[in-house]
Amino acid sequence: MQEWEQEEPLIIERGKGSYLIDTEGKKYLDGTSSIWVNLHGHRHPVLDGALKKQLDKIAHSTFLGLSNPPAIELAYELIRIAPKGLSRIFYSDNGSTAVEIALKMAVQYWRQRRPEAGPKHTFLHLKLAYHGDTIGAVSVGNIELFHSRFKPLLFSTLEAEPPYCYRCPFHLTYPTCRMACVDPIEQILKSRHRELAGFIIEPLMQAAAGMIPQPAGYLQRIRELCTKYEVLLIADEVATGFGRTGRMFACEHEGVTPDLMAMSKGLTGGYMPLAVTLTTDEIYRGFLGTYDEFKTFFHGHSFTGNPLGCSVALANLQVFRREKTLSRLSSKIKLLAKWLNPLAEMPNVGDIRQCGFMAGIELVKDKRTKEPYPLSAKAGHRVASIARTKGLILRPIGNVLVLMPPLSTSKAELLKIVEILKVSIETAAIN
Ligand SMILES: *Cc1c(COP(=O)(O)O)cnc(C)c1O
Repeated sequence: MQEWEQEEPLIIERGKGSYLIDTEGKKYLDGTSSIWVNLHGHRHPVLDGALKKQLDKIAHSTFLGLSNPPAIELAYELIRIAPKGLSRIFYSDNGSTAVEIALKMAVQYWRQRRPEAGPKHTFLHLKLAYHGDTIGAVSVGNIELFHSRFKPLLFSTLEAEPPYCYRCPFHLTYPTCRMACVDPIEQILKSRHRELAGFIIEPLMQAAAGMIPQPAGYLQRIRELCTKYEVLLIADEVATGFGRTGRMFACEHEGVTPDLMAMSKGLTGGYMPLAVTLTTDEIYRGFLGTYDEFKTFFHGHSFTGNPLGCSVALANLQVFRREKTLSRLSSKIKLLAKWLNPLAEMPNVGDIRQCGFMAGIELVKDKRTKEPYPLSAKAGHRVASIARTKGLILRPIGNVLVLMPPLSTSKAELLKIVEILKVSIETAAIN
């Protein structure tokens, strides 16, 4: 913060398509999708129009005991496109909250459904997980720099090693490892399932960990194990949902239906804060009872089911259909891989990890030993600062440069992003 105060502030006044425009009129490619939320570009006429139209009806009315047409329609639309079996929707307004809701639902579900089974309120998660910044979400997260100082506030959880293949904690190589990292997870599930309410995971890609992808078949194995040991699978699709991985949801790649699923970031195309937690009929029924049984889910927010958010989320899905966003994305995903590939030859690029339209480029001090730069070298930050002078906004995670452009980014714009990234890494000359 102290250093940021001394920097020249960059104040974004407007946007258009893939570009952000500052108060001086300077244009920047939005290489982060405004922190992973924007999908169809800025000032999209369909999204702009949906918001304006809803504003002529009502901006907000409570969802506590009442309902509204956009929230009802959106619930139906989401159930239609979500992994089969997810048929119930709970609204909130940001990703962290959608995760908190999934955790609380899991705990309350087990209490009400299986009181005889004893307390089942512990969660299992992967190391390096990120599920948001509120206290429950931080409890199931494990990014040392973000989370360690809040330890005294957190509830205790069980952790397992993630499939970080570039720095395999078991010193094995995929695929000859046969995903040996899943074995300790099975051990935990086997010995502790009686107390475990759920296993929370970012499917396919641990994004905020620095873009750590899971090998094919991994999520499916986790689903099988959770089913076998009666532990709810909670998929946090806040980052991966809405086309980011090349399919509408990451779970689709593995044909997996989680028991609970959180979505937010791309839900409104990056326009409004809105989130949902989806679940199955089986879990929903665990919350039914007579008035004086008080089995209802005790959770609600002032802006739950906000009509402006829901109407722009409906417009977002409409644009997916109208512009064939997903089918047009597949060739751009391949081009991104092709254009990033030569960067692997650069002396300080250790690993390039891509899943759909999200990519991480890990900078290393020593390519051979994979020795990382110390965080104090500010390797990622230095590259991002240079990129900014060349008209590209990036937000690195430590030594990992993150590319997360809007899905609507054109091929020419995508090439420009990769070119600026390459020149910026060269110019930064970190050593
Ligand atoms: C961003 C993110 C969150 C938190 O969402 P917010 O809207 O920032 O609270 C949760 N989980 C994942 C995987 C995320 O990437």
